[in-house]
Amino acid sequence: MHRKTWMEIDLDAVEANVRTAKERSGKKIIAVVKADGYGLGDLAVANAAVAAGAEMLAVSSCDEAMILRNKGYRGDVLILGHTDAEDLARMIRQKIAVPAYSALWVKNAIEAGCRGLRVHIKVDTGMNRIGFKDNAEIRQAIHDLTEAGAEVEGIFTHFACADTDPEFTTVQFERFRKAVEEADHSFRWIHCDNSEATLSFKDDLSNACRFGIGMYGISDTYKGLKHAVSLWSEIFLVKQVPAGETIGYGATYRTEAPEWIATMPIGYADGLVRKNQGRTVYIDGEYVPIVGRVCMDQTMIKLPRPMAEGTKVELFGPHLSLEAMAEDLGTIPYEIICLISERVTRIYTRNGKQVDEFNGRVIESKYNPEGE
Ligand SMILES: *Cc1c(COP(=O)(O)O)cnc(C)c1O
Repeated sequence: MHRKTWMEIDLDAVEANVRTAKERSGKKIIAVVKADGYGLGDLAVANAAVAAGAEMLAVSSCDEAMILRNKGYRGDVLILGHTDAEDLARMIRQKIAVPAYSALWVKNAIEAGCRGLRVHIKVDTGMNRIGFKDNAEIRQAIHDLTEAGAEVEGIFTHFACADTDPEFTTVQFERFRKAVEEADHSFRWIHCDNSEATLSFKDDLSNACRFGIGMYGISDTYKGLKHAVSLWSEIFLVKQVPAGETIGYGATYRTEAPEWIATMPIGYADGLVRKNQGRTVYIDGEYVPIVGRVCMDQTMIKLPRPMAEGTKVELFGPHLSLEAMAEDLGTIPYEIICLISERVTRIYTRNGKQVDEFNGRVIESKYNPEGE
């Protein structure tokens, strides 16, 4: 049971996109499923990525890594962001790889005990977010961590403008090459590419790519991916509103003639932000406007003709690209999908048919054993 508002994830498309990334890059794929797989479901996306040949998963934090372990995922996992020294013992037990990003972090890790800890050295080549900026510090860190019993198995950096500025990307890459050479260490994992770079940047140094948004078919530079995500609702009430009446909070829209107005059960609490007022949705072959303010749980649209209650509404998907929606809203596709709230049921499809669904808010109750 769920409200008729859902996000659909095409697992065949996710798999095809991971295979495309592998073929184009010729490298190992680290599937980035941080933030619950960009809001689409970390384990569902991870399983599809691994089925298509991804060798490792990446998440943002210890919490996210433990969520994957607690859901039963036993394969390789790398954390990309901050970790507290107090969590390292657990990361060792769970065989979760962590990034070393500063001399102070290394000192704290060694004090906390890091025998058996899997470490990837993070190099800051121009993003100025996290990472070592000094190659001598990197050599020292590798020496100290190895001596303390950690396994320094990887080194990586992150590009700031892979989609927009090839020159800057090359500058960053050359800094990375120098860092890897001067580290004078044998790394099993060397990685610098995000999705855009996976698809369009070639190098002879790295052996793995961190592939995130590309799994969902989003790329500015390469069009050979398959769109994997769409957002849907259904109209549940249709009525003719006389001329001169207003729609919704603040009475911001006034009917000019008798107009067919439909209500659907999606609002800003679902991540359909209020800025969507006036934007277009797709219903039964027609592009129609959202009229009046987007409410917390409901939104009204104007139909060109009466339509049956229960007709599907596409918010983004095959007829309305997520990229165009992001541009309209002055944001990026990442932000839109990450902000679709837990309240929206995730439906997974294969061969166009539903194979699974998940809603994080629909709980089983012991007071309600029949699940009614
Ligand atoms: C999120 C993230 C990625 C994935 O980026 P996409 O653009 O989604 O492919 C890769 N590396 C790091 C360090 C990240 O934080």
